[in-house]
Amino acid sequence: MRTVEEHERIVAALIQPRPAAALALAPAEGLVLADDVVAGLSLPGFDNSAMDGYAVLAEDVASASPERPVRLPVAEDIPAGRTDALTLAAGTAHRIMTGAPLPAGATAVVPVEATDGGTGTVEIRSAAEPGAHIRRAGEDVTAGTTVLHRGATMTPAALGLAAALGIAELTVRPRQRVLVMSTGTELVAPGAPLKPGQIYESNAVMLAAAVREAGGEVVAATMTGDDVAEFRSALQRHTPGADLIVTTGGVSAGAYEVVKDTLSGGDRSGDEVQFAKVAMQPGMPQGAGRVSGVPIVTLPGNPVSALVSFEVFVRPALRAAMGLAHPRRPQRSATLTEALSSPAGKRQFRRGVLEGDRVTTYGPPASHHLRWLASSNCLLEIPEDVTHVESGAAVRVWDLTG
Ligand code: AMP
Ligand code: MG
Repeated sequence: MRTVEEHERIVAALIQPRPAAALALAPAEGLVLADDVVAGLSLPGFDNSAMDGYAVLAEDVASASPERPVRLPVAEDIPAGRTDALTLAAGTAHRIMTGAPLPAGATAVVPVEATDGGTGTVEIRSAAEPGAHIRRAGEDVTAGTTVLHRGATMTPAALGLAAALGIAELTVRPRQRVLVMSTGTELVAPGAPLKPGQIYESNAVMLAAAVREAGGEVVAATMTGDDVAEFRSALQRHTPGADLIVTTGGVSAGAYEVVKDTLSGGDRSGDEVQFAKVAMQPGMPQGAGRVSGVPIVTLPGNPVSALVSFEVFVRPALRAAMGLAHPRRPQRSATLTEALSSPAGKRQFRRGVLEGDRVTTYGPPASHHLRWLASSNCLLEIPEDVTHVESGAAVRVWDLTG
């Protein structure tokens, strides 16, 4: 049997970064920069008003007070977005709005609250220091500055900064494109009627969501029966454009193991998929390799096994290939609130509920209890050589919310 670490390394080695690519800002959200971002212009781009008010010469209003206001003619009205060049003449004021370009010659802005708000003439009721309420060109960003570094994640704020700098495209590490394929003749798409012996297909939508949550992109999420020709033709149809194929089902020790039957002998391009037992519970039957050059990870079909093995093997490798911060879930120690037992020689991943630093297992260890998985927020990782854990003992947990 393979250890969890051995299989982890095999999967991680398969999933490789895509070449850096230029993407528009919106699709770059959450991705990692492959190059530094250098400001091509300054922010603000020009001196402008920080307030709605009046642009003046500071010395013209130096004596202004509520008791002895200064009255000035309003020579111009400057809303934000006015693009013609204006000059303020001494002894006049320009009405000006927040973000509007400061006229040449103006040395201060008096907020509208300190005036009568006039449009023909204005009564100024307070003095203004030179520079008051003026945002200077370049005081935020100077052109030529590196504002975002390679490896940074494009957060909402980083996207906003790039847009403010007039950048329409960013060079990022693109999303891994993942093809999700469920197998099983017993499977029926939700919404259709069930015959006796059939069940609703749940892995495709679940793993597609897990791929997106991991930062990946889903090229297709499909379902096939346990028929080699059908599975092979679905693979051929959907593989182009995928960086990774994730299948579920058809890899254990029974008959009708369609994934194993199709891929065991290698495909025509000479690629090979190796099927192995991994010393873990759930998720023992696993496989990994390549099909037509595209990496493939074959997960077991039981929904809990499928999602747990995605968490253990696929998610960290996908995130690492995209250069994302924290490829692994946050892991920490928590106090177990009840005793549990675990099989010898296997790493057990139990579903649990983590509250503060206390953790309670949730649901039985068997791998078809999807309901419990849906209500848990962590995995408990019980080492291979541990068969019993006492209540109150420390256990390792993976925080699935992080
Ligand atoms: P397998 O790994 O194909 O032997 O499947 C193991 C168990 O998981 C069986 O009970 C299957 O019916 C079930 N199963 C496999 N694939 C799915 C799926 N996509 N959705 C729901 N249950 C599944
Ligand atoms: Mg099956």
